[in-house]
Amino acid sequence: MDVDELRCDEETTKAPKPHDVLWFPDGNVVLATDLYLFKVHKSLLSLHSSVFKDMFELSNVGDSAAGESAGEKSQDAYDGLPLITLVGDKGEDVVHLLRTVFEIRYYDYHSDKTPLDIVVALLLLSTKYDFKDIRTNVILQIIRQYPTDLKDYDLVDDDTSLLFDDHRVNCHFALLGAAYRTNAHVLFPTLYFACSKNSIQHIIEESTRRGVPAECLYALLEGRERLLLNFYKQAASMERMVEAATAHITCIRGGNDRTSCLRDLLLSGIFFGEFSTDVNLHFVRRSPEMFDFFNQACETCKTFMEGRIAWKRNAVWDKLPSNFGCPGWNVIREQLGEMAES
Ligand SMILES: [Zn+2]
Repeated sequence: MDVDELRCDEETTKAPKPHDVLWFPDGNVVLATDLYLFKVHKSLLSLHSSVFKDMFELSNVGDSAAGESAGEKSQDAYDGLPLITLVGDKGEDVVHLLRTVFEIRYYDYHSDKTPLDIVVALLLLSTKYDFKDIRTNVILQIIRQYPTDLKDYDLVDDDTSLLFDDHRVNCHFALLGAAYRTNAHVLFPTLYFACSKNSIQHIIEESTRRGVPAECLYALLEGRERLLLNFYKQAASMERMVEAATAHITCIRGGNDRTSCLRDLLLSGIFFGEFSTDVNLHFVRRSPEMFDFFNQACETCKTFMEGRIAWKRNAVWDKLPSNFGCPGWNVIREQLGEMAES
């Protein structure tokens, strides 16, 4: 076999092949990607996607420029059927989109086990081709794992847990990049927050690896800085709050000599503003003084501190979207409510 034959073989193997599943005998259009050809039905695609609907309608009247605005190119026929090349889409991603459309059990948006690459592919392609229902479902699936309420967020916030067939920590940046590229605004604050919890070095490395757009990375870094500042302000004001409380908290341990666990905490030299530098909002657990306090304090003082900490955490969380230039939680929750009802 000479070099020319080898090259010829390589070209043959690179030509897209009919897909095993998505090749319906009575299909009436062929879609082409880098890897696969799909023989599918125009009517079903048109029902779900305004972009495909427009593309098919235009190609019916012989407009050769049909659909090019969305990245597709109308081309010649394949076995007598119209052949449309989906420019810039990966074959595997298109498989996920088309199987979601054609196989009712292929994608379940109630599941948290959908592989990450399918979640990302569906968000990107449903947006590009305007499959409204699929886009809504994917966004609702993601937001369940990155909720807008701090109590709900705490329940899922474990980077070592499994999510989308991967470790949760591996999902943050891939999802942020996809959300940003598809203008899925409702997902921004919690995804920015999840990514903010990492060191700057990790943020830059992961953003590069996961293809997070540069503007998105800037917004993340700027927002992270504002979030930290907000966080320090809240933590620093805690000292005054504890000081004031020592006068009217009836410490169980104190008894008649009026020693208070809270006073001990203040005397321990704790600097509340330095609780943490990792933006995780669980700041108190990081501080050895606070750890000692929770181990030794009476129930009254413990309950008081827990209440104050929860209050401070909520104050930081309430302002979270504004740190990243996003609309407030109320606007986001309203939009999510509309999506869930649509
Ligand atoms: Zn006490």
